[in-house]
Amino acid sequence: VAQLLDGKSCARAVRTRIRREISQIAPQIGYPPQVVFIQVGDIAASTAYVNSKSAMAQKVGMLSTIVRLRDNISEDELLEVISAYNSDPLVHGLLVQLPLPQWIDTLAVASAIDPAKDVDCFNPINVGRLALGMAGPRPATPQGVIMLLEHYGLHMGGLKAVVVGRSNLVGKPMGVLLLQRNATVTVCHSGTHDIPRYTKEADIVVVAAGKPGLLTGEMVKPGVIVVDVGINYVDTGEDGQSHVKGDVDYATVEPLAAWISPVPGGVGPMTIASVLWNGLQLYRAALGSDSEQGS
Ligand code: NAD
Repeated sequence: VAQLLDGKSCARAVRTRIRREISQIAPQIGYPPQVVFIQVGDIAASTAYVNSKSAMAQKVGMLSTIVRLRDNISEDELLEVISAYNSDPLVHGLLVQLPLPQWIDTLAVASAIDPAKDVDCFNPINVGRLALGMAGPRPATPQGVIMLLEHYGLHMGGLKAVVVGRSNLVGKPMGVLLLQRNATVTVCHSGTHDIPRYTKEADIVVVAAGKPGLLTGEMVKPGVIVVDVGINYVDTGEDGQSHVKGDVDYATVEPLAAWISPVPGGVGPMTIASVLWNGLQLYRAALGSDSEQGS
């Protein structure tokens, strides 16, 4: 039976640490960290993500502002809003919730966020800093996965790691972070032939494909560490409601795995904790104190 990579409890530990640090620093400085979450339109999942990130930010002692912009906003108007927060010295973190309407260029928006306030590592400058192992914010979800593994004392050095998925926000930076921890990394994607050939050899598999139940027991070796990033809303047909399912077929993988993260309660809470962690580091950096971001 696999041991659980419990994201809820790990995220709680990370938040406790953040809260403690803020309560030590903020009274001396005179103001707490402030994060601003920008949402365009009213996609239900985006509203839920923004609300929970904002609520958690407040819980750790940050000021949090949600800016909701109408669905038909132009790219220029959105860039102006971003620019206003970029120049507000009391704002330390800025996150634009994706996806954006299709007429807005996501890369232009990412590039407009001040790299020093970029809590989700969207800006190409921060993506470059990540690739080079320089200090800076890290993409929230992959950083959350690393925090979760390290929380349970799991070392990645020397392990064969397979990442399934190569998106700019999850799969690709996940590969980079694992590489920086001395794993030997293979990234599989929709163009990969015979994915089981790679996953069967892996000591650690991180699945971020957005395909419910993609990784099955037949695709892994006993003792594997499995991290499930997937969030899929699946209609099970049983009660007419949709349920959240991961990318891992838990029933067949769990009996073989040494460690496994559940969905929900795995990577999801870690992603939020990781955004807050970045917010704290950017606040510290803005104050000129040591940033704890490493490679
Ligand atoms: P995406 O759609 O941008 O990318 C999916 C990637 O998976 C692509 O690179 C594609 O090549 C690959 N892929 C798709 N089908 C595949 C298949 N059958 N075999 C191999 N590779 C395949 O998605 P994303 O933004 O990277 O998110 C991936 C999943 O993670 C989604 O379910 C998303 O909801 C979830 N997610 C969860 C969190 C969290 O906090 N837990 C955060 C971000 C994303």
